[in-house]
Amino acid sequence: MPQAIEQVQFMTHSAPKKVNLLGMDLAHLKAFFTEIGEKPFRAVQVLKWIHQFGVDDFSQMTNVSQLLRERLSDIAEIRAPEIIKEQKASDGTTKWLMRLDGGNSIETVFIPEDNRGTLCISSQVGCALDCGFCSTAKQGFNRNLSSAEIIAQLWVARRMLNERIPEDEQGVVHNPQNESRRAITNVVLMGMGEPLLNFDNVVQAVHLMVEDNAYGLSKRRVTISTAGVVPALKRLREECDVSLALSLHAPNNAIRDSIVPLNKKYPIKELLEACRYYFSGDTKKKQFTIEYVMLAGVNDSLQNARELAALLRRLPCKINLIPFNPFEQSAFSSSKMQTIKQFRDILQKAGYIVMIRKTRGEDIDAACGQLAGKVKDKSRRKH
Ligand code: SAH
Repeated sequence: MPQAIEQVQFMTHSAPKKVNLLGMDLAHLKAFFTEIGEKPFRAVQVLKWIHQFGVDDFSQMTNVSQLLRERLSDIAEIRAPEIIKEQKASDGTTKWLMRLDGGNSIETVFIPEDNRGTLCISSQVGCALDCGFCSTAKQGFNRNLSSAEIIAQLWVARRMLNERIPEDEQGVVHNPQNESRRAITNVVLMGMGEPLLNFDNVVQAVHLMVEDNAYGLSKRRVTISTAGVVPALKRLREECDVSLALSLHAPNNAIRDSIVPLNKKYPIKELLEACRYYFSGDTKKKQFTIEYVMLAGVNDSLQNARELAALLRRLPCKINLIPFNPFEQSAFSSSKMQTIKQFRDILQKAGYIVMIRKTRGEDIDAACGQLAGKVKDKSRRKH
C-alpha cells in the first residue's frame, strides 16, 4: 500500500502589487537596483540571500543597510506559491501541490536516487500541445508560469527538504556549489507544460539555476524537455544552452502526427536538424536525450525500432524508453516489458546508449505524464 503522507503547509503571504524579486535573474535584479537609484552590486547580495539562504524577509539580509532593507520591504517582496499538499510515495518520491495566484495549482516532484536527487518542475498551467498520451494535455491550457513561479518550485523544494548550503561554525559559506550537501542535484523541466512555449520566463528561471550566486547547478544538470518547438530551440542555443531532452516518441511523421500534433508544424526532419544545430560548434555538450514513450501497438514494433535506429544515425543522442503511465480515460496502454526490451536490444545493437526509464512515484500519480494540478478555465488552449 502506498504510504501517502499528506500535510498542509502555509508559506508566504503578503500584500500584492509589490515587485516580486524571486524570479529575477542577475541581469534583471541589477536593472531593478539601478532603477531605484542603488548600486547594481546589491543584486549579488540579495540574490545570495534569496536563493542560497532561502530567505524571504528583507530584515534578515544583514549585509544590506538598515535603510535599504526598510525601503525594500516597502516596495518589494519575495513571494512563492503556497504548498497546499505534500505526498510521499513508497519509493521516496515526493510530490507537492502548489497554489498559484488566481486559483490554479501546479505539481512539482522530487525523485531521490542513490547518487543524485532530481526535481521535476512545471513551466505552464496545463499544456496547449494536446499530445494524446499525456494527462496534462487532457487538462487543457490556462497560462504560462511567471519566472518567479518557475524558480519558486526549486526554492520551495529546497526549503521542504531542508537542503543546507555548506557553511562553517560561524555560518560562513565557503563553497555553495559543493554537490555533496545538496538534496537536489538535477532539475528537469518535465512537469506540466511545454517550456519552449514560455520561453522568456523559462530562460530567466534557468539563468538562476546555473548562476553561481544563486543555485550554481552545472548546465549539464539542468534539462529542458521539449516536444520540439523548432524556432525556440535555435534561440535557446544562443541564450542558455542547457541539456536537452527531445520528446520524439515516433520513428516517422505518420505516427508522430497522430500522437504529437505539434509535429504537423515542425516535422521530424526539421526538428532533428534543429537539435543537430543546438549541439554544433561546442565540444563540451556531449549528447541530447531522445524520449520515446512505449505505446502498445502504436510505436513499439521491431520495425519501428529499426526505423528509429536509422533515423537517429549520426546524431549525438542517447535514448530513453519510457513505459507509458496510464491515467483515467487514456486511450493507450503500455507496451509489455518484453517488447520494450526487444526494442531496446535492436537500438543497442545499432550502437545507441539506451535506458528503460524506471517509473517513480506511481502510487501518488507523480510519474511522467501523470501530473495534472488543477487547471481553471481550459478555454485558452488556442492561445
Ligand atoms: N512538453 C514537454 C515536457 C513535458 S512532458 C515535452 O513534451 O517534452 C515530459 C515527458 O513525459 C515527455 O517526454 C512526455 O512525452 C512524457 N510523457 C507524457 N505523458 C506520459 C505518459 N502518460 N507516460 C509516460 N510518459 C509520458
